[in-house]
Amino acid sequence: MKRIAILGSTGSIGRSALEVVRHFPKEFEVVALSTNSNAVLLEQQIRDFRPVLVCANDALGAARLSGLSGKKLKVFSGGSGLSEMVSDKRIDLVLLAISGSAALAPLLAAIEAGCDIALANKEALVMAGPIIMERARKKKVKIIPVDSEQSAIWQCLKNQEDAGLKNIYLTASGGPLRKVRKADLKKISLKEVLRHPRWKMGRKITIDSATLMNKGLEVLEAMYLFGADIDKIRVLIHPEAIIHSMVEFIDGVILAQLSVTDMRIPIQYALTYPKRLSNGMASVDFYKLSSLNFEKPDFTKFPCLKLAYQAARDQGTAPCVLNAANEACVESFLKGRLQFSAIPSVIEKVLAKHKLILKPDLNDICRLDLWARQEAGRIIPRMG
Ligand code: NDP
Ligand code: MG
Repeated sequence: MKRIAILGSTGSIGRSALEVVRHFPKEFEVVALSTNSNAVLLEQQIRDFRPVLVCANDALGAARLSGLSGKKLKVFSGGSGLSEMVSDKRIDLVLLAISGSAALAPLLAAIEAGCDIALANKEALVMAGPIIMERARKKKVKIIPVDSEQSAIWQCLKNQEDAGLKNIYLTASGGPLRKVRKADLKKISLKEVLRHPRWKMGRKITIDSATLMNKGLEVLEAMYLFGADIDKIRVLIHPEAIIHSMVEFIDGVILAQLSVTDMRIPIQYALTYPKRLSNGMASVDFYKLSSLNFEKPDFTKFPCLKLAYQAARDQGTAPCVLNAANEACVESFLKGRLQFSAIPSVIEKVLAKHKLILKPDLNDICRLDLWARQEAGRIIPRMG
């Protein structure tokens, strides 16, 4: 039995992961679960999966859960509690399904503890990719991607990163605004942005899918995960979301990974790796699929993607600043304080003001993450 911790178990990925676990009761033991503030759902999950460790980030949630603590359940709270929880020796694999930069500290703590990682969160890697990959290498910790595109690339590459990689084709459904004209993006509402055509996900990633920042973050994620040259990573709009990404080698061979569009597939593989287990998922019906389509991304309509490529080329602290400014913008857009179409301009302004550090340590990363949020906070009210 693999003993797993699911951080962010009350979110979209976390809930899907628990469905996978429910399907394979002999494969997994759920040792630890966590939430930000949804203690009600976490309580239900405690009843269903009987973990021995749980954590709520906010004090109210932790107070509610503390009533359940006893011999069979230890309750942690806050960021430091989460990092302490993942250091428990009973955990074999940590699924990182927390959204945003809050995942960085528990990710580093899990690596330090020598746990293998199933990585759904992308923001932590974008902030501190070189530090994370180096620490994982030193500790011999496996980082198994969960994000469908990274899982696809990882499966196609099978450790052949050095064996003549020519291109990575990172596919993108195009998001909910693919067909909206650039001029109409100004008046786009939150409701329209949250209506993703292919994937049902948390709010932050759904907004990122609409600006294509999600794909930008994935470009950065792929660069760090696979040590790939940025010029070899190409984004390909593929509205059907059947090909989850492709890898081309120097001899002209292209390997692709296909499946129906369901996050439980890459989550399952990250949890069961190196095993593949039959799960009753539907197959892709090639007789019904009349065609698979591909388009070039529109960098003018979606400047966030261009900014992410630029940050990848600038390296150092640029990706961290890009990510923090974007998180601040998404939060403001969710609160109705920033227009959708102003998101890229705010990020661009923050990036332009930032003094690049080429080889940052963790302190530099944390300092610039905070600075970028504050800077975005100063710019946003001036955007009109
Ligand atoms: P959700 O918003 O649905 O869930 C996020 C989870 O993290 C929730 O359990 C939430 O708790 C918890 N959380 C949020 N903030 C904090 C915090 N500060 N401290 C501790 N816990 C916190 O997000 P998703 O599941 O959609 O995405 C999770 C990550 O996976 C993201 O980084 C995303 O980019 C990535 N990803 C998601 C995909 C998807 O299909 N959803 C696909 C590929 C990658 P609470 O319930 O209380 O809010
Ligand atoms: Mg993805």
